[in-house]
Amino acid sequence: MSRLLQILTGAEDGLVVNNNAAAVLLVLDTFCKNREAIISRGELVEIGGSFRIPDVMEATGVHLREVGATNRTHAEDYERAICEKTGAIVRVHTSNFRIIGFHKAVPTRDLAKIAHDHTLLLINDLGSGSLVDLERSGLPHEPTVQQSVADGSDLVLFSGDKLLGGPQAGIIVGKRELVARLRTNPLLRALRCDKLVYAALEATLRLYLDPQKAEQGIPTLRQILMPAEELAGRAQRLADKLASACQGLCDLSLRADSSRTGGGAFPEYPLPTTLVVLRPVSCSAEELRQRLLATSPILLGRIEQDAFCLDPRTLNEEDFELVVRLVRTVLQAQ
Ligand SMILES: *Cc1c(COP(=O)(O)O)cnc(C)c1O
Repeated sequence: MSRLLQILTGAEDGLVVNNNAAAVLLVLDTFCKNREAIISRGELVEIGGSFRIPDVMEATGVHLREVGATNRTHAEDYERAICEKTGAIVRVHTSNFRIIGFHKAVPTRDLAKIAHDHTLLLINDLGSGSLVDLERSGLPHEPTVQQSVADGSDLVLFSGDKLLGGPQAGIIVGKRELVARLRTNPLLRALRCDKLVYAALEATLRLYLDPQKAEQGIPTLRQILMPAEELAGRAQRLADKLASACQGLCDLSLRADSSRTGGGAFPEYPLPTTLVVLRPVSCSAEELRQRLLATSPILLGRIEQDAFCLDPRTLNEEDFELVVRLVRTVLQAQ
């Protein structure tokens, strides 16, 4: 696994724990316990389920030294906060919200220089770290794991199950001697991941050795990168199948709309898609949605403008027959 992580990220070594929150915990416990970690006020993130990264950090006995303002943090803010109690500078990538307007953050490369000039570590929590630049799908540029390593981060932390598209895991890559120290922390035993997760993560990472294989074989990547024309074709084919199977049961149409990435990544960046829009004849769209949540397997759609909508981005073409059967069954059952 560490060999794979070296090849894929350019880092000297790597280690896997059960999720990225555990990675944050392990890294701070190892390098910053009873010391201060300097972090920008613009990067104090809550990640869902009411979990806040600052709280996870403080649970390790690290004192967070907050610098800058919510919207702007400058190099001098970091410089001024450095003292004999400092353990590391921490960067947290804000992947689940956006600050727009009057905003400034110190680039990772510059932050690494500040840290290294003071013989401190730069710890970079990327959150939804990606190994692939997703810009060509129309999403904004986000630093990849490789870029964050190349920019001088001493340790880069990211989730296995966000943009990477693998099982729930936390991945830590970085300098060899630092990863070696992490391996000797007794907490690692409590934070390690299950063998099956390990196997699934390795299988996912192996696909990344060939970018084309990764884009075809990893559902998260395939779905994010699916071109709009392909989505339109899929929507048409699904609508045709539904139309012939559900005659008289619902009204069908197509609508140009958008998909959201989810998983705490890329907020406010809609991806163009074509929705299949169903209006049942004798029940409400909401009733149809509820009934499809009770089938086996369930079929997840969303309600928009009082209609039940299916997004072909997250449906496999091989499953269209099954989708049609589920919809017809619940529409006939009323
Ligand atoms: C999601 C996230 C985490 C936690 O990752 P999990 O794998 O869900 O534990 C930590 N830091 C950041 C910045 C995140 O976005």
